[in-house]
Amino acid sequence: MNNTALVVGAGLGGLTTALRLKKHGFNVIIVEKYKQAGGRLNVLKKDGFTFDFGPSFFSMSYEFKEFFEYIQKPMPFRFVELDPLYTVNFSGSNRSYTIYKDLHKLAEEFRDVEPAMEEKLERLLEKTGRLYHDVEYRIIKRNFNSILGYIATLATVPMQHAPLMLRNVWDELNRYFTSYEAKVIFSLVAFFLGATPFDTPAVYTLLSYIEMRHDGYYNVEGGMYQIVEGLLQLMKEEKIEIYYNIEITGFEENKSRISALIDNNGNKWSADLYVINSDAAWFRGKVFGHKRYQPEKLDKEKWTLGPFTMYLGVKGKIEKLAQHNYFLGTNFQDYASRIFKNSITLDKPYYYVNVPSKTNPNVAPEGHENLFILCPVPDLRYKPDWSDRETVASNILRDLSERIDFDIEGNLVTQTILTPIEWQNAFNLYRGSGLGLAHDLNQIGAFRPRNVDEEYNNVFYVGASTVPGTGLPMAVISSKLVTQQILKRYGTL
Ligand SMILES: Cc1cc2nc3c(=O)[nH]c(=O)nc-3n(C[C@H](O)[C@H](O)[C@H](O)COP(=O)(O)OP(=O)(O)OC[C@H]3O[C@@H](n4cnc5c(N)ncnc54)[C@H](O)[C@@H]3O)c2cc1C
Repeated sequence: MNNTALVVGAGLGGLTTALRLKKHGFNVIIVEKYKQAGGRLNVLKKDGFTFDFGPSFFSMSYEFKEFFEYIQKPMPFRFVELDPLYTVNFSGSNRSYTIYKDLHKLAEEFRDVEPAMEEKLERLLEKTGRLYHDVEYRIIKRNFNSILGYIATLATVPMQHAPLMLRNVWDELNRYFTSYEAKVIFSLVAFFLGATPFDTPAVYTLLSYIEMRHDGYYNVEGGMYQIVEGLLQLMKEEKIEIYYNIEITGFEENKSRISALIDNNGNKWSADLYVINSDAAWFRGKVFGHKRYQPEKLDKEKWTLGPFTMYLGVKGKIEKLAQHNYFLGTNFQDYASRIFKNSITLDKPYYYVNVPSKTNPNVAPEGHENLFILCPVPDLRYKPDWSDRETVASNILRDLSERIDFDIEGNLVTQTILTPIEWQNAFNLYRGSGLGLAHDLNQIGAFRPRNVDEEYNNVFYVGASTVPGTGLPMAVISSKLVTQQILKRYGTL
């Protein structure tokens, strides 16, 4: 008889692992706490609008292609490459910067603020490209079963990259650019990791190489949730069952193995092996009671910023917004270094605005705009009280309306606001942290919660808080890494 795998969580990591395991002959069942699949890659349909819940674009599209080749299925959705990538607006200035992938065009944008931009960027991308290709297979796409093995592998990375481990992203960009604008814009990649350029190691400037040169950014035709819809269709074809509104809260063990997981209704789910797509650190502590992962320990770890998200249906068309827009102030260093610990007010927040209705007419009624706003905020350790949610939302809308010369509040058709509290409760995100554990050097590779449980030898983990890290392509890589671990123990059937 084939082995049965129970996957806990239908996020991107869970769904892609389920399909990989099925390919290898496992029987697969998924249980999901939320009412529908996708995890953070979710969808909200309201008042005639279809909102992407979280992710609005992604890099490393080749990881999706590799996944569908692996399971030998045609890709059930289509990518749309972003070019320009996004625009950046600074407060107090009418000028916005459009970020093109074409360096010549990009240099033109910065002509009056950053001389010799093209040469500077070439140097940056050349260096970060070398770094990316030196670590891609050595470090990122690899399982490490011991810290010693990890350190030994790190030692094989060419020494020329070592200084990047000692500096932060901001300091590294200071070595290339002189203008505030260029430094701020190219340091935004740190926010994609849920952190700030002042506390993100300079090795992550390799994200600039990924976004500008290696692959770029992509949307999905018809909206990001098409990824999930496509995967669900394949689940159906493969007869993988998903049970919704089921939260795993307990377990039964038998000699270093889990014999059943128990859900919130007291039902038992038995399988030969278990793949946990819930946060890999939180689940170990909360459900299995592992001592190393109790709240007092987890609270000492570094977690990524929380999401404050708004989903707005707006009457009218907004000319002064592109599809992907950043709205920043002029106190970047002060703001970014204090936002983590809630030591700055959210009177004038920094935020990102996505307008999918610019390219996809199906997400809003005719003559309307669909707006997604994401403002990175302190996690619930530092700001547990969100009774000021309406005020924060209103601050953002007032600021945005002024800057784009369009009265958003006066034209609102529908509005939904989610704070880190709702994000935490919907998907079990620890302390409402949006992207899971941060990516400091002591929280990646063999130092990140492993994808194999320490105590139960039939329990595995996939997703943002295990290896290799956060973001959509990383969840897909994570599913590959955990599948390798499972096959090592169970073999191909
Ligand atoms: C606001 C926001 C914007 C983002 N934007 C981008 C972006 O533009 N590009 C990008 O690449 N990435 C982005 N990300 C990150 C990306 O969404 C995540 O890294 C990725 O979706 C994580 O997938 P996952 O499979 O690890 O986990 P999840 O999506 O969190 O899935 C885990 C699933 O497990 C379920 N679960 C948890 N506990 C239990 C339990 N006990 N029992 C049963 N089920 C359980 C949850 O409900 C959830 O469905 C964004 C994230 C957020 C929050």
